[in-house]
Amino acid sequence: METPVLVLLIFLTAKVLIELWLTSLNLGEGKKRRGEIPEAFKDVIQREDYEKSIDYMGAKARLGMISEILDGVIMVVLALGGLAWIFAQFSSVLPVGLGWDALLILCVMLVLSLPGLPLEWWGQFRLEEKFGFNKSTVGLWVSDKFKGLILMIVLGWPPLLGLLWVFESFPESWWIWGWGLFFGFQLVMMVLYPMVILPLFNKLEPLEEGELKKSLMGLADRAGFAAQTIQVIDGSKRSTHSNAYFTGFGKFRRIVLYDTLIEHLKPRELMAVLAHEIGHYKKGHVPQMLGVSAVISLGGFWFINWLITERWVVELFGFDVFGDGRVDCLPALLLFMIFSGVFIFWLGPIMNFWSRKNEFEADAFAKDAMEESQSLIGALRGLHAKNLSNLVPHPAYSFFHYSHPTLLERESALNSDAEKSHS
Ligand SMILES: [Zn+2]
Repeated sequence: METPVLVLLIFLTAKVLIELWLTSLNLGEGKKRRGEIPEAFKDVIQREDYEKSIDYMGAKARLGMISEILDGVIMVVLALGGLAWIFAQFSSVLPVGLGWDALLILCVMLVLSLPGLPLEWWGQFRLEEKFGFNKSTVGLWVSDKFKGLILMIVLGWPPLLGLLWVFESFPESWWIWGWGLFFGFQLVMMVLYPMVILPLFNKLEPLEEGELKKSLMGLADRAGFAAQTIQVIDGSKRSTHSNAYFTGFGKFRRIVLYDTLIEHLKPRELMAVLAHEIGHYKKGHVPQMLGVSAVISLGGFWFINWLITERWVVELFGFDVFGDGRVDCLPALLLFMIFSGVFIFWLGPIMNFWSRKNEFEADAFAKDAMEESQSLIGALRGLHAKNLSNLVPHPAYSFFHYSHPTLLERESALNSDAEKSHS
């Protein structure tokens, strides 16, 4: 077997093995600690809920392992010529031309999204259902999928077409222009997503006038965040999981609270959650995150360009398409889209480490803004209990996979007096 294919298969195998190993560590940890609630949570969580949270983790872990193995097998088949074969099937029926070439890529991506659907369905209507989270219906799920498909075409086709055009027009420097195009598209999507796309799936409404809104807006003012509006999303339409998040930038920034969150938390706890979200904004986490993703994606475009110039690599994966009238970069683009995750996976722990640091900073900011830490602690406990979050992950698992610190870590940081939030 030639080196590039071998390297890919080695990285792929390593990824699958690491994932399975981490998940089994996590399963073992849960099994070991299911009998006894950790000291710090004795007064916080009911025994029944604690056990249920570990069973929920276990059920998700087992489904995750099946999905990991299935994905791994599919990736091997794709690497050994499967991807080139699917490409050839569409290539033989679609006319030649920039617009059709862009559509060809979308068709291949669509076919590759099909094998994951049964497990996704199982996850929503068996697993989530069993633990009482599912609020979706088969009709809603199917309509979500159709809307997703149409969105993928409407939003995916124009930038792909743009990319192919840039490639044809500037064969030498295309990857820098292409990256600019890609990054600009990402910025536009950050603004459009909550305004245009989210409303296709959910209802977003401004938080209704009243005591709650007054105190939340007051807090935003004191924290130096001139909020134009706080929006409430009907997350309860699909699931009872709750969340809050912050999206956009500059004038387009907005805070979105799940209706389930408002239902479950006390007003001061909600204020603390809002303060945490404002903390992300004030500490510049969004632009930092964008900066890092810009650098990573520039590296990605450079690599695609390398793949395009080294045709022999692309041919090793079974593509035999040069001179068929299509844009030359299609196989390289597809290979990158399908397999780059195998390598980007290894950046995960670093990105998560950094994300956890940002979470601590946002927590510290919230503590300052609230002038006490108990409200945020109350909110975090409530969220963890409601979402049946695993309180006892294996340290190796949480180090690798957790974008947020564990509840225990956040509480001890909030309780420590040596808080270093004034920076
Ligand atoms: Zn956060």
